[in-house]
Amino acid sequence: MSAQAEEALETQVLDRYECRSCGYVYEPEKGDDKYDIPAGTVFSELPVNWRCPVCSAKKVAFANIGAAGTASGFKENLGYGLGVNKLTPGQKNILIFGALTLGFLFFISLYGLQ
Ligand SMILES: [Zn+2]
Repeated sequence: MSAQAEEALETQVLDRYECRSCGYVYEPEKGDDKYDIPAGTVFSELPVNWRCPVCSAKKVAFANIGAAGTASGFKENLGYGLGVNKLTPGQKNILIFGALTLGFLFFISLYGLQ
């Protein structure tokens, strides 16, 4: 099985669904005690008469909010992006100046060799 197919399968299994009516989140890895849904039951495999255990909304009221792992991965990427964006203009100038200085020193060292 290719890594991509494996990822797709895993994503489908772990997809969580949020009740748009009350905000309850159905987590496949936990199942649902109220309706005797065993842990590991995919949302699409829930019985048609399954309702939101909090507000009794029907399955159609639920929205796929993705796997639990997706959010943390996204946050990590976000943090990585923010790491650079958090730099003040002054810090960015230091980085640019530092790079220019290194380049200049490199040029000078080459020039000195000739
Ligand atoms: Zn609900």
